[in-house]
Amino acid sequence: MNKKRIPFAYAKSIYEIDVSFYKKLGVKYILCDLDNTLDPYIVSEPQQEAIDLIKKLSEADITLMIVSNNSGKRVHHYASLLGVEAECFMKKPFSGPLIKMMQRRGIKPEEAIMVGDQIMTDVTASNGAGVRCVLTEPLCDKEPPWTKWNRLFDRPKRKKMADGGLLKDWRTLL
Ligand SMILES: [Mg+2]
Repeated sequence: MNKKRIPFAYAKSIYEIDVSFYKKLGVKYILCDLDNTLDPYIVSEPQQEAIDLIKKLSEADITLMIVSNNSGKRVHHYASLLGVEAECFMKKPFSGPLIKMMQRRGIKPEEAIMVGDQIMTDVTASNGAGVRCVLTEPLCDKEPPWTKWNRLFDRPKRKKMADGGLLKDWRTLL
C-alpha cells in the first residue's frame, strides 16, 4: 500500500469530529475540502450544520478554511456565505499549490489538518505537503463525472485499507 494514500485518521463525516480531537493534535487550521465534505456537491449555500460547525470551531480558536479543486465562483460564493477564507483550483492530488498557499498564509504543516472525502485528491495532496489528513465518506452520491472516475479507484482502496486496519477512527486517537 502506497503510504501517500493512507490518511492520518478516518471519520464518517466532518460533523462527527469533536473539537477535542483537533485540540489534542495542536491543530489551529482545518484545511477543508468543500464538495461532499462540508456540503453536498449540488448545494450552493452552507447548510445549518456547516454554520454551527464554524461557530463551534471559532469558539475553540480553530480556523477552518476551504481548500477546493472547484472553480472560484462556486468556492468563493459558498465561503463568503459561511464567513471563511477559501482557496480554489488547488489541483489536488498535487501538493505544490497547497505548500505554496500555506507558506503564503504562514500556516505550518504541523498546525494544520486536512479533512476531505477523497483518497485520490485530499489524502494524496495533504500527505505530499506533510499535513495530516482525515478521510471522510462523501456526503451524497451525486458527484461530477471526474469524481465518479476517481471513485473507481477510491472505493477498492478504502475497502482494502479498512480491511487492513489502516483507517483509524478519529476517536481512537483522542
Ligand atoms: Mg470532495
